[in-house]
Amino acid sequence: MNFADADLINAILQSHNYHTSSSDATADIVLLVTCAIRSNAEDKIWRRLERLQPLRKRGGKVAVLGCMAERLKHQLLEGRKMVDVVCGPDAYRDLPSLLARSDEEGVANVMLSVDETYADIMPVQIDSSRVSACVSIMRGCNNMCTYCIVPFTRGSGTRKVYLTAGRERSRPMESILREVKHLESFGIKQITLLGQNVNSYRDVSVISEKTRNSLSSSEFKPIYKYRTEGLHFVDLLDAVSSAAPNVRFRFTSPHPQFFPVHLLKLIAERPNIAKQVHIPAQSGSDSVLARMRRGYTKDAYLSLIDRIREEIPNVTLSSDFIVGFCGETEEEFQETLGLAAKVRYERSYNFAYSLREKTKAHRTLVDDIPPLVKKDRLRRLNEVYEHGRVKRINAMVGRKEVVLAENRNESGEWMGRSSGDIRVNIEGDVRGDLEIQKGDFVLVETTRRQGGILMARPLSITTLQE
Ligand code: SAH
Ligand code: SF4
Repeated sequence: MNFADADLINAILQSHNYHTSSSDATADIVLLVTCAIRSNAEDKIWRRLERLQPLRKRGGKVAVLGCMAERLKHQLLEGRKMVDVVCGPDAYRDLPSLLARSDEEGVANVMLSVDETYADIMPVQIDSSRVSACVSIMRGCNNMCTYCIVPFTRGSGTRKVYLTAGRERSRPMESILREVKHLESFGIKQITLLGQNVNSYRDVSVISEKTRNSLSSSEFKPIYKYRTEGLHFVDLLDAVSSAAPNVRFRFTSPHPQFFPVHLLKLIAERPNIAKQVHIPAQSGSDSVLARMRRGYTKDAYLSLIDRIREEIPNVTLSSDFIVGFCGETEEEFQETLGLAAKVRYERSYNFAYSLREKTKAHRTLVDDIPPLVKKDRLRRLNEVYEHGRVKRINAMVGRKEVVLAENRNESGEWMGRSSGDIRVNIEGDVRGDLEIQKGDFVLVETTRRQGGILMARPLSITTLQE
């Protein structure tokens, strides 16, 4: 999300004659694009701000942008006075004028909007040598999981506005298609569609004949009464993957509720949609899931996992888990371990619960799990996950995979990722017609596992449609 925002901000500033600099040392202005989701993300920014103070002393400016800016405007400008500009995630258009103003006290715009999607701005990639890019397709989230700050930062401001306004907003499909075609024309070979609740995407800017009734997985009871008119995520994925058949598409971060079977079938059928599904479970305990207000039970989640594996052969699965959520007992945590052991994810992002102000958990629950217990549970979950992951990756040895050649390592070997998002190193000499170039899709045969990486030998340069 922050990478996509950085490219958007780059486009806005370039149109006002700002240019990117290669390092902090040569820059006049440093912009930090921030996230507020967990407290350690914020801690990192405070440390970075300390290190940037010499730049301010020599007349440079430091700006904090994004969700942390919106959340901590007063601390940033008044308390420790470490920044010159504070700009919230819906106010990037105002950044050139904020930077042009010089004010001892610092300047800020953290106004939140209910409809800003920056649809008319074509982001400009900061790193133009990359063959992968991210495209932001929606902002905000309506789900209100009790631990999560997203609906209060990338959505709308006060709780009152939040509850009365259309906070989750999707960018019109036509603007996304334009960006995808633009990126393709610059040699981009892999695009990740981004949103905090990406698969509840719904474009209501055109009334569509294609409107489908179901946005949800059949196993799930809706948490929130979603409207169904407009173009859905499946329509968008269909459109972008048809418009750019030689670009590989991924998406993140979805909610398990919005995986109707026609979406799974599309992923299975289209050669240029990655066979990888991120499906954040958060917990394996029904009582914790209820306290988190996730809107599903472990059984509903597991039957969706079965359906995904049935519909998409060789799919890889990943998850997010939070350990040590308010009141989590050892037995409840054991259920999470049991779920991770059962599913055997190829990848998992495991976090210790971090209390966030404004959330329902902050108002109504107690963050009562001691930090050392959280840490220990994290370690135990990581162990179980690692065990399952190794088994899954071992089972991939000897398979043919299509890998996007993205970079070379120190030994000159091409590195990239398979359709299932597993890192692959391509070993062996480049022979005859097989001179691999950056951005090529390479058909490989995997030969062995090394840590979390698959080693492979190249067979041919290919296309996604082959
Ligand atoms: N929309 C996605 C999650 C996006 S936020 C979903 O519904 O699953 C990314 C991840 O950050 C979450 O999946 C969660 O695991 C983690 N996270 C969010 N709030 C957190 C908190 N307060 N403490 C710890 N982890 C948190
Ligand atoms: Fe946060 Fe995801 Fe829940 Fe939305 S669905 S509130 S982004 S965890």
